[in-house]
Amino acid sequence: MQILILQFVDPARTDGQAEFSHPIGVMSAMLKADGFETSLAALPGFAPAALRETILRQRPQYVLAELDVWNVSAARRTIGEIAQQYALPVAVFGTHATCSPEPAVSIPGVHALLRGEYEQSAVAMLRAVRDGADPAGLEGVWVHTDSGLARGALRAPAPLDSLPFPDRGLFDFGRIVRATREAPFKVARGCPHWCAYCVNDWYADLYGDPPVRRRTVSHVLDEIDKVRADWPGVESVKFYDHAFADDDAWLEEFAREYPRRCGLPWRCHVRLIDVTERRAELLALGGCRWAHTHLGSGSRFIREEVLSMFPSDDKIVAACRTLRAAGLRVAGEVFLGTPYESEITLEETLSLVRRTELDAVDPRVFFPAPATRAAELCEENGWISGRGDENYWLGRSVLDMPSLPAAQIDAAMAAFRSRLKRPQETALRRLLDKFRPRGDR
Ligand code: SF4
Repeated sequence: MQILILQFVDPARTDGQAEFSHPIGVMSAMLKADGFETSLAALPGFAPAALRETILRQRPQYVLAELDVWNVSAARRTIGEIAQQYALPVAVFGTHATCSPEPAVSIPGVHALLRGEYEQSAVAMLRAVRDGADPAGLEGVWVHTDSGLARGALRAPAPLDSLPFPDRGLFDFGRIVRATREAPFKVARGCPHWCAYCVNDWYADLYGDPPVRRRTVSHVLDEIDKVRADWPGVESVKFYDHAFADDDAWLEEFAREYPRRCGLPWRCHVRLIDVTERRAELLALGGCRWAHTHLGSGSRFIREEVLSMFPSDDKIVAACRTLRAAGLRVAGEVFLGTPYESEITLEETLSLVRRTELDAVDPRVFFPAPATRAAELCEENGWISGRGDENYWLGRSVLDMPSLPAAQIDAAMAAFRSRLKRPQETALRRLLDKFRPRGDR
């Protein structure tokens, strides 16, 4: 049975290249082990011509569509097109399918929804479809039946070491390696934090304790060995978990074993509130070159009350210094255009970024991901505009706030890097500096 997996990528991309996704890769590996054939199409938004070409070439019997919080519009139109033009059954999976299952399963053309961690549920559901059995009632599967929607109970998450390594061939991984020389890996699932702009709340509610499940170091290193053997062009490694560095015992073992088994330079994400001197030291000992992090906003009010990020300005600055003192370079992401953003809070963000002396800065226009607490705040205030979620990819604001209109947010984004280099430029900044406490300068 031929399964087509749909992934939605940045519409600006014209190369048709898929984004590597660990869980999609694991799902494909499990489906193949069960006798299914899988293929993947990376669609740049709603793209009927590309969809038609893919369906005619692949001749799928079932479609699995990734439904994430930033591609709802493109997925909705694509699923409608599949139902109308090709009469193929579609199941949705991903963050929006998990956090907003009722609206997601109600999208015209959706046959089923896989809630939460979806790999095992996908295999069980497609096995039932293939064998002519009834998928209604399967754990992790919501499915439309003649008598209504059957909501299967949540499926318990699998121990991570029991899952197969992801099927990287699905993503044309050789092309990714040739383009980037880097291989991405995931070592854990879950997160102990509660950032208000993130969907983690939903997963934490579904799966409870422990908030983070982690692969063993040896399981991760076995996968890295295999990837290096299969794709010799890999010259560096990326770990994209947000909880990569928050378990001391795991990090001690990783820092000891990784250089012995692999030794390629690597980068990872680090939450600044989790940074200690010992963790920075372990990252460096293990061969980490870059720590990527998220500052949120320079406004303490926005950081704490809107984004639920709790390191103080001083902790942020100190954590960046600690990482750099250990020999790492630090890249930081900041939001522009968060709820309650104003010219004053933008200046505070510029000021905080300057204090951190980051090696690289990545400003992002804030996007209120549906079903997050930050999006609910925007909805309650009537700030969600009619501009669609394609603006997420375009880096344009979808908020209409009296404190800072969308056009000003977009302008602030365009000017951010140049303003960062000119700290003395505005009277407003001089005024803010005048009132900042001495220890904060
Ligand atoms: S640290 Fe990352 S994964 Fe965790 S809640 Fe915050 S944004 Fe989400």
